[in-house]
Amino acid sequence: MKKKDFTRIIPVVLTILMVFATSSIASEAPIQPGGPFITPEQEVSRDSILTFDEIEAILMKLEGISKGKMELKTVGYTTFGEPLYAAVVGTGPLRMWIQGRIHGNEPFGAEASLSILTSLLNSKKGLLDKMTFIIIPCYNPDGSNLNQRGNAARVDLNRNWYPSYSQPESKAFYYVWADFKPHYAIDLHHQGTYFLADEEGNDTNKMTTFSIGIPVWPQYLDPWVWDTNRRMAVVGYEAVLKLGFCNPSRYPLINIHTAVVSSMMLGSPGPLGEDAGWKTAAMFFENRSVGQKSRGYIIRQMVVGVEAIIDAIASGELDSVDPAGWDDIPDRGSTISTSDKWPNDWAED
Ligand SMILES: [Zn+2]
Repeated sequence: MKKKDFTRIIPVVLTILMVFATSSIASEAPIQPGGPFITPEQEVSRDSILTFDEIEAILMKLEGISKGKMELKTVGYTTFGEPLYAAVVGTGPLRMWIQGRIHGNEPFGAEASLSILTSLLNSKKGLLDKMTFIIIPCYNPDGSNLNQRGNAARVDLNRNWYPSYSQPESKAFYYVWADFKPHYAIDLHHQGTYFLADEEGNDTNKMTTFSIGIPVWPQYLDPWVWDTNRRMAVVGYEAVLKLGFCNPSRYPLINIHTAVVSSMMLGSPGPLGEDAGWKTAAMFFENRSVGQKSRGYIIRQMVVGVEAIIDAIASGELDSVDPAGWDDIPDRGSTISTSDKWPNDWAED
């Protein structure tokens, strides 16, 4: 029988004891909903994340089984020659744009978009005579293949609409937007891990799982755009809150006019100075960063939030939502890694 190698076991035991010591100090105020958290050194497995090829295969399959209800359009190509896909479903007069993965290392907007697309072709097909959708599960195929924020040229595509449009993705999708003229748009992202703030702006012991953001200050927006955005935010917030296991919050009020949804809200000119004569009520969702075991609820909260907004639009209920409810959404607090509550449950299970 082989002798046990205690030189290997002892450091492991010590590490476990140290982890217990640290967590017992911090355990008076556990963070809800708790771990797992991704440490800066942690290698996150990407096995549970769809590759661009898998996204493409799913889109082609959905088109094939949709009996003509879905059209998969190739609207351009990336620097590395990947197709830029936009799925079109529905025939109704209310038009909505949903996009994911403009930042290639923020994956689950693709999974959520594909889930929403699947619902629209099945359980929600009854609203396709009221609404038409363009769904872009992967805005940034090259960045997704490289697992990086920017595209092949490392350009942040969410800072590349008006006035730059230097990248092929921006030019292609601008013209799709200008042609489709959506009334509503949602852009799906990931953020780091943040606390949820209380009414005084102090961090609670809750971790926010999901922040809803409007990236242009209201003084630059048509009042109907600002009102519609806030109504959409309230509907999305309430639906995600009802899930019970998510802590939705309001993203800080930023003012970035070069972002895609910002250009849509402002009706900014196109690559050659074109005026589409159109503005879109648009916003973004920021989901907590990726941990393999959080995958299920991260995708679920996006799908539930977006589908609640879709239902409110299709039924007309969105118009009766009080936009002032936006003010009641709790703020996103500090990032977990710089908070004075740190170190807390840096737990990896
Ligand atoms: Zn992002």
